[in-house]
Amino acid sequence: MRIAVYPGTFDPVTNGHIDIIERALKLFDKLYVLVGNNPNKESTFTAKERVDMLKSALKKHNHKIQVEFFDGLLLNYVRKKKSNVIVRGLRAISDFEFEFQRAQFNREFAKDIETIFIMTKDDYAFLSSSIIKEIAMFHGSVKGFVPENVEKKLKEKFKK
Ligand code: ADP
Repeated sequence: MRIAVYPGTFDPVTNGHIDIIERALKLFDKLYVLVGNNPNKESTFTAKERVDMLKSALKKHNHKIQVEFFDGLLLNYVRKKKSNVIVRGLRAISDFEFEFQRAQFNREFAKDIETIFIMTKDDYAFLSSSIIKEIAMFHGSVKGFVPENVEKKLKEKFKK
């Protein structure tokens, strides 16, 4: 069985993330979507909210996906799940340096674990959780860029 882990902050999940997840599902039998905390920035949504939004958006893939929160070293989580693949998404060249550094670091500490990159659809190349939050904060429309349940949650969070 081919098992992979897709880690991220998902604050909140966007259609760009969903696109990467659906592409990864074509390559793997089981995908763990790992919700973590970014130590460099405080998240807008709690870990539970982020997990719940992902679970609800991915309901139709339930049998192949498991969404979990983990607040520890990614490599340990990957091993615990008996996987050896980390999936990351690439939007534009701007993502490359950061992702390259992380992948090199992970390889240094775990030679048996590979990082693979999946490129997003053009439509989502500019999409990020931060941009979504900025638009929602000013009550703009995020329709089509996030799953419907997330759109609702953003409206509640940034109520006028
Ligand atoms: P992190 O804080 O770990 O970067 P994110 O939740 O922002 O977490 O992103 C998780 C992964 O998804 C990263 O690999 C990121 O590059 C990728 N990603 C984010 N937005 C998009 C998008 N619009 N298209 C493709 N990949 C994306």
